[in-house]
Amino acid sequence: MSAEIINGKDLSLALKEEMKKEVDTLKTGGIHPQLTVILVGDHPASRSYVNGKEKACGETGIGSHIIELPKTVSESDLLKEIHRLNGDTNVHGILVQLPLPVHIDEQKVIETISPEKDVDGFHPINIGRMMTGMDTYLSCTPYGIITMLRSKNISIAGKHAVVIGRSNIVGKPVAQLLINENATVTTCHSKTENLKQFTRIADILVVAVGKANMIDASYVKEGATVIDVGMNRLENGKLTGDVDFDSVQEKASFITPVPRGVGPMTITMLLKNTIKAAKRLENREG
Ligand code: NDP
Repeated sequence: MSAEIINGKDLSLALKEEMKKEVDTLKTGGIHPQLTVILVGDHPASRSYVNGKEKACGETGIGSHIIELPKTVSESDLLKEIHRLNGDTNVHGILVQLPLPVHIDEQKVIETISPEKDVDGFHPINIGRMMTGMDTYLSCTPYGIITMLRSKNISIAGKHAVVIGRSNIVGKPVAQLLINENATVTTCHSKTENLKQFTRIADILVVAVGKANMIDASYVKEGATVIDVGMNRLENGKLTGDVDFDSVQEKASFITPVPRGVGPMTITMLLKNTIKAAKRLENREG
C-alpha cells in the first residue's frame, strides 16, 4: 500500500482562493479585515513565521500590520500596546508571536488580548468555549488538522485517534477537537509507557512531539491516517517532520508530508479566524 498524501499546500491555496472572494465581498460592504501581529525581538524563526503570515494576508486581501518591539521591551509596555489594539476598531485580529523573551509572562500576554480578537485561539475563554463545543476561534494548527481530515472525507466519528503530545497549542486542543468530532481519543506524552501499544491501534495518529523522524512504520497500524505536525530543522537545513515519511507511507492510508502539510494549513486557519473576527466585530454573522 502507498498512502494518499494530504497536501496542505494545495488545500491552503484552494481555501485562500475562497477567502479572497469573501474578503472582496466584505470590502464592498465596507468591512476591511485587519490582522495586527506583534513581533518582540528579532528571532529569525519568529520573523520568518511573521513574514509568512503577512504574505498570506496579502494573498487574500486581508490587511496586515506588523508592530516590531525590541526584545528589551517591558512587559507593561507590551500589555499597554495590546490594550491599545483591543480598543482600535480597525483591528479585528491580534496575534503576539511566541515565544517571548523570558522576562515577559506569556500567559499574561495571552490573557490580555481581547477574546473577541484572539485569532490564535489561545485565550482561556476561547479554549473553554472549544472544550464545551461552543462557537469560537479554534487554535489554528488543530483547526487545520481537522480541516485536512474533512477535505479527504476521512471518518472521525467512532474511530480511535491517538495524539502524541500534550502541549497547549497542539496536542491538547487537537485531542479535544477530535473528541468533539466523536472520536475515541488517547493522548500520549513523554511519560507514556510503551507508546507503541497505543499508536499501533490508532485509526488516526496525530504526532506533535518535535523529534525528527521518531515515528516509523513499526508504530503505525496498517491503513491508518497519519498526521505529522512536527517541524524539525535538520543540521543540513532541511525541514522534516516527526514521522519517518518513507516507511510510514508504505503502511498508512493517508499521510501528511513535511513540508507542504500541516504548516501551511496553520497560517490558512489564522486567515479564516481573522475574517470571522471581522464579521463578528462588525456585527455580521461569523
Ligand atoms: P512541545 O515541545 O510543547 O510538546 C511536545 C510534546 O511531545 C510534549 O507533550 C511531550 O511530552 C511530548 N513528547 C516529547 N518526547 C516524547 C516522547 N519520546 N514520546 C512521547 N511524547 C513525547 O511542542 P509543540 O506541541 O509546540 O510542537 C510539537 C511539534 O510540532 C514541534 O516540532 C513544533 O515545531 C511543531 N509545530 C508545528 C506547527 C505547524 O504549524 N505545523 C505548529 C506548532 C508546532 P511532555 O508533555 O511529557 O513533555
